[in-house]
Amino acid sequence: MGIEETEAQARGALDRRSFLKGAAALSGAAALSLGLAGCGPKTAEEAKASAADAMGTFSEEGVATPSFLVPPEPVDEADIVEEVEADVVVVGMGLAGICAARAALEEGASVVCLEKGTEYHLHSHQITAINSAIAKEQGVEFTDEELERVLNRMMADGRDRCNYNLVKHMVYHCGEDFDWYLEKCPDYTVVRAEETAGETKLDYEAILNICTDGLAARAGRHFDDVTPEREEAAKAGAPYLNLFNHPVNPAWDVTDERYPMFASVIAVEPNHSYVGKHSAAYVEEHADVRYAVWAKQLEKDDAGRVTGVLFADEDGTYRRAKAGKGVILATGNFSSNPAMVDYYCRSAAELEPTGWPEVDAKGDVTNTGDGISLAAWAGAAIDRSETMTYVCDSYGGAMGCNPFLLVDGLGARFMNEDVTGEVFGAKSLRVAGKVMWQIFDDSFPDQVANMPVGHRCYWRITEGYDDIPLGHLFDPIGTMTRAEVEKMSQFKADTLEELAEQMGVPADAFVATIERYNELYDLGRDEDFGKRHDRMAPVRTPPFYATAITPPKFRNTVGGVMSDEHVHALDENNLPIAGLYLAGSMVGNRFHGCYPNTNMGQNHAGCIVYGRLAGQNAARGV
Ligand SMILES: Cc1cc2nc3c(=O)[nH]c(=O)nc-3n(C[C@H](O)[C@H](O)[C@H](O)COP(=O)(O)OP(=O)(O)OC[C@H]3O[C@@H](n4cnc5c(N)ncnc54)[C@H](O)[C@@H]3O)c2cc1C
Repeated sequence: MGIEETEAQARGALDRRSFLKGAAALSGAAALSLGLAGCGPKTAEEAKASAADAMGTFSEEGVATPSFLVPPEPVDEADIVEEVEADVVVVGMGLAGICAARAALEEGASVVCLEKGTEYHLHSHQITAINSAIAKEQGVEFTDEELERVLNRMMADGRDRCNYNLVKHMVYHCGEDFDWYLEKCPDYTVVRAEETAGETKLDYEAILNICTDGLAARAGRHFDDVTPEREEAAKAGAPYLNLFNHPVNPAWDVTDERYPMFASVIAVEPNHSYVGKHSAAYVEEHADVRYAVWAKQLEKDDAGRVTGVLFADEDGTYRRAKAGKGVILATGNFSSNPAMVDYYCRSAAELEPTGWPEVDAKGDVTNTGDGISLAAWAGAAIDRSETMTYVCDSYGGAMGCNPFLLVDGLGARFMNEDVTGEVFGAKSLRVAGKVMWQIFDDSFPDQVANMPVGHRCYWRITEGYDDIPLGHLFDPIGTMTRAEVEKMSQFKADTLEELAEQMGVPADAFVATIERYNELYDLGRDEDFGKRHDRMAPVRTPPFYATAITPPKFRNTVGGVMSDEHVHALDENNLPIAGLYLAGSMVGNRFHGCYPNTNMGQNHAGCIVYGRLAGQNAARGV
């Protein structure tokens, strides 16, 4: 598993109890979709009434509106016990909300922040940061032509449905905005994997250090010798940053890739809280930050401008936050709201969720899509994107997502394997037996030489480091240890027939597949699936290895409210709603159909870049 995922893996799937607790707090629609509804109705009328109750409301034609889109009753003015006022009101104190609030404060605006947890929430690691100072210091600078290539690819990823200038702002600002984010962090270490003339010299010791001391908070789940004291010490420490995928494979040419993945990422270790806490502290010092409060409704004036937020305490007491200049919704995604997932992301509903088990002040899971409802009730358009986009990742096999041979549950080859981890994940649900086996032979250390730069792709195998119990330890530098490959391989055999038996696939079909694959390699052309020849690794030298590609997990949604390039929320006619801004996961109109691996860490980049933009625009009245 990659460094970014080890924590998620260790935490396992979203805690079942809190997930169900969240579900229980949801509308009847959630109960219906989870099959928790009570006894069925007896008559057609009862059925309609029952369905209406569960699903929200029905139109004359019988089209359902789910309850999370049905606006609540207005709050009685007499029930509002307090009124606070600021230029900008930010809802949600995750990475996006923190950046939005900080940017608004830096513009001289007064800010109120509303957060339903008892503290702010920061987590995970990778972030797209093209042309950041750290990258430039290491001689990695994208030219204008390369920036255009990234932008065009991102637009093509979304079939050009997304807002060009919104995506462009991300590509051209993610580096400088990362520098701005880092500015507040007084102490950090940049881990360099240096390339010296004629010889690849990697700073393995520094990278190992990340995995022992620097990562103790996470490594506690992997290393037996991590004591609580050591874990605390690590938490108090400074972050480690490294330019992911550098140095790149010299044999790799991004312009010659079916699915280019740009080497545009910085990994923040142990996680974003180590950097983000400094921005959060600044916000806590300068803004009126209210924890353990729930934003309940947006308020608008007669002209349709959003003027503030009604929010409630844990005991249900209502207060009003008036926003002179704007409200920023930074409420995160809706992966923990089964009814919303079922409605917007049908195909995600069958996946196991791996969200962060974060809870609000009542102990209910966050990421319930509150902002989607708040915005929709205020007239905003939700970005439907065919099926709303979500992150569906696979960790690949023992050789990650490298394009080695794949066979299905019948032992047959079925695709050009030269794709990305996102495709691995989605594809595995659509093949015979719903299983994809990654197959390679003992020549893999030589065969990886032509593998791409990518999400969990490796182009270098290192001997040694046998006793390190972390998977894909050198992930950031595209390197695997032989020991890790051995450990992560599910099956190993000296004959193909034996391997087939272990995998449980028909041996005849499997052997025929391998023979055909080797034949295509000898032919010099993949007549069957069109894979480039230098990535056709023949399977001839025993022992042979097989690993089932890890099933895709549903991480988080990345579609939100329709947005323009100024991160204004848009109405049903795609026109801006005055006074309403979006940040982080709430920003729609930037992905369509899939969350591509073109750049890693686009979620976090969306928090910082669009958070900063929302704060600036709200404060400036843009
Ligand atoms: C396992 C895992 C690994 C990941 N790894 C990466 C990675 O490496 N790189 C990457 O780019 N992304 C990664 N992501 C995704 C990334 O973590 C999220 O996209 C990002 O943190 C979202 O930040 P946000 O500020 O938009 O939302 P959040 O962090 O969810 O913050 C939203 C905040 O709003 C609050 N809130 C919600 N509703 C209300 C309300 N009604 N009233 C008041 N407060 C409210 C919530 O309590 C929360 O604090 C990963 C996600 C997972 C699950």
